[in-house]
Amino acid sequence: FRFAVGLTGGIGCGKTTVADLFAARGAAVIDTDQIAHSLTAPHGAAMPALVAEFGPDYATPDGALDRAKMRALVFSDPSARARLEGILHPRIREATAAAALIADGPYTIFVVPLLIESGTWRERVARVLAIDCAEATQVARVMARNGLTEDQVRAIMAAQVTRARRLEEADDVILNDAGIDALLPQVERLHRFYLDEAARLAE
Ligand code: ATP
Repeated sequence: FRFAVGLTGGIGCGKTTVADLFAARGAAVIDTDQIAHSLTAPHGAAMPALVAEFGPDYATPDGALDRAKMRALVFSDPSARARLEGILHPRIREATAAAALIADGPYTIFVVPLLIESGTWRERVARVLAIDCAEATQVARVMARNGLTEDQVRAIMAAQVTRARRLEEADDVILNDAGIDALLPQVERLHRFYLDEAARLAE
């Protein structure tokens, strides 16, 4: 098995920003959010099963998942959420494993927003890397990026594990509270460490 890192962090802490910096240094980056999205895009691999389970009303005319409608359903119906996850999670696992098999690069980084919450990821990676920032930074970034109110951002944050819990679970931490310049030395240091670990594993 190749050396693999699970990169996680609260909304807006900078997972994508940091993952891009690792990718630029040669790491194979696999984003589970992107995979989930492609499964429910027009003619995505999960669409036949979703239409069979929830009915054609939950697909848009071009054959994608009607996200707004599904969000409303699972918000009001926990059993619907479980059925949705029952369809999506095994397919995300499969597609992620398939992407990892054909990935180049000395090691793999899986970007998993809900890594701590989801349980099964912990045993698939050698290291958990948390991207950390102050809650006020999260709120400011997501308000600016998504045009949400502070209350809306805080509601999303409340559905994720706490910052303290995430830091407790992490093997490695990158602090992303300042500009990009402050990220570079942290990424460099960990990239070298991961290269060493990958080489050790390959011996
Ligand atoms: P999400 O959980 O919503 O997918 P994320 O953790 O992947 O978010 P990013 O998308 O990388 O976070 O960053 C959130 C926003 O904050 C983006 O608009 C990004 O450009 C900005 N941002 C991230 N890091 C920094 C930084 N160090 N300096 C300035 N802006 C930043």
